[in-house]
Amino acid sequence: RLVLMGHLDTHRTPFVFRSPLHLKVFRVLVTAGFASMAALVLLYIAGSIVQSDIIYLVSLAPAVLLILHLIMTVQADMTPYAPGANDNASGAAVVLTLAERLKDEPLANTEVWAVNPGCEEVGCYGAAAFLREHREELRDAYFIALDSVAGPGSGPCYITREGMTRPYRSDPTLVALAGQIAADRPELGAYSSTLPFGFTEGAIAIKNGLPSLTFVNLRPDGVLPHWHRPDDIFENVDADVLARTQAFVWEFLQRIDSR
Ligand SMILES: [Zn+2]
Repeated sequence: RLVLMGHLDTHRTPFVFRSPLHLKVFRVLVTAGFASMAALVLLYIAGSIVQSDIIYLVSLAPAVLLILHLIMTVQADMTPYAPGANDNASGAAVVLTLAERLKDEPLANTEVWAVNPGCEEVGCYGAAAFLREHREELRDAYFIALDSVAGPGSGPCYITREGMTRPYRSDPTLVALAGQIAADRPELGAYSSTLPFGFTEGAIAIKNGLPSLTFVNLRPDGVLPHWHRPDDIFENVDADVLARTQAFVWEFLQRIDSR
């Protein structure tokens, strides 16, 4: 069996996603935020043992940083949802189109499940619920996640590792297979990358012990075009990138099937 998955929900459009520079600053702030929380715990303990004003003064810096985080969180919650043409109508469309094609040209040895769940952007709860529900049936299944696969300037991009805190590694055999296709079919313009600033439904599959490969079409410079922005609209979807990604995944299915 093999599961093809592309989420249906979209993300809000917070200020921090406005540009690649905003995102860079945001990533530094998130790391600093976690450090601040740890620092405040230590300072609190120190303050309860040593009664010193300096400790209270020092604690102001991490406190201000965390208030800034609170403001960013509230701002994010007040923004509208992104139209979601690339993230993730593109991925869901590839899943549906491949499912349609498989009806006419089914694989000889592999049963393909096409799944487009919700609740990805808030922590992949749809994928988690699905995998929990079908744990037994999917014991030996492969998993392919398709997320944001039509950004201009990108190409079919398979992810070798994802996750912000804990790294989730794609299955080495599937990565090697994708590399082989990229080499055999240069006209598709495929390449690999890592996704250090987030995770997809692929990570949930990896967590559940399934051999998994994620497609997120980052540009070669690592930027995900129009990500979580109001201009993630149909006009900014690149039909050629979408078609090449679909052709790549189709080839991938054929090769999995003939292994
Ligand atoms: Zn997405």
